[in-house]
Amino acid sequence: MKREEFCPNCEEYRETKVVQREETYTVRDRQITVSVKAETCSSCGESIGSDEADQEVLDAVHAEFRRQADLLTPERIKQIRKRYRLSQRSLAALLGMSEATINRYEQGGLQDQAHDTAIRACDRPEIVRDLLERRGHLLTDWQRKRAEQALAGVTEPDGSWLDLIGQGNWIQLANEVSDRTGFRRFDHKRFASVVLWFCGRLGRVYKTQINKLLFYGDFLNFKTATVSLTGTAYRKAPLGPVPTDYGKLLGWMQDEAVLVCREVEFSNGNMGFSYHVGPNAGPVTVEFAPHEQKVLEYVAEVLGGLTAKGISERSHQEPAWRDAKDGQVISYREAETLSLSLPG
Ligand SMILES: [Zn+2]
Repeated sequence: MKREEFCPNCEEYRETKVVQREETYTVRDRQITVSVKAETCSSCGESIGSDEADQEVLDAVHAEFRRQADLLTPERIKQIRKRYRLSQRSLAALLGMSEATINRYEQGGLQDQAHDTAIRACDRPEIVRDLLERRGHLLTDWQRKRAEQALAGVTEPDGSWLDLIGQGNWIQLANEVSDRTGFRRFDHKRFASVVLWFCGRLGRVYKTQINKLLFYGDFLNFKTATVSLTGTAYRKAPLGPVPTDYGKLLGWMQDEAVLVCREVEFSNGNMGFSYHVGPNAGPVTVEFAPHEQKVLEYVAEVLGGLTAKGISERSHQEPAWRDAKDGQVISYREAETLSLSLPG
């Protein structure tokens, strides 16, 4: 399928083509060569990359480095942690690392050798039992009990995911009642329920779409009812508004298989990700008010059919996004300028 993109070299819109080529990167002391798919200008050959494509290359380079250096893969690290039902925060505490470090490794960041050795040792239950004895006081009682049950071979889950999600520590989320949160204290159950609602209603939601759907839902509800749906604060990112620290919450939902993320290939040959309702979601217990349901339905109806690019472009026309500075939180007071209004 033919596609046109703006080529910074030609300074014009050009047809693009996808080429496969080898690229070599230096990682620590090694030269790493990977084969990558790159979208290029068909006139001059200039790469027209996206942030998503750059991330894929980086992931491939890291994967190859890990293979050569015999380091644990991100999936393996996650597997070891989940075997003991530990959160990233708790595993980090047991090993004397920061939560951000474990999170980074599980997201594909390259671990150093000492950390790799420490995490690998946790594959042996006696090591974790010993860590719990010596450092278990650093965990919450709930988390400690959960890990001890896992070690004892107790398998049944201890509560529904909506109860468990409240045990998470969403330190970076705005937790205030102000124009940054649409005058609702951030509500993780509502956030998760809205994400699942969109996935259920639309069948699948691309990773690049979900942030904008959430933004429109929250801002339209504020515009029409002077309160947001979820209490999420949004900041200005290049592709549109994004919830602050959404990655952690969506990551948690994935950890618990409430949400599943699948790799998909777009018509232009690029790879991306889509979200689906996961096997552990169960019935969503947050009841939305009739007005809130109307808002969700309307956002899904008007924006659900747009491509990731289409919805991104639409969000770029919103004064709320345009007027904010890069990285800055967007005030809900701007909701009155939203291009969307409820009909009737
Ligand atoms: Zn060009």
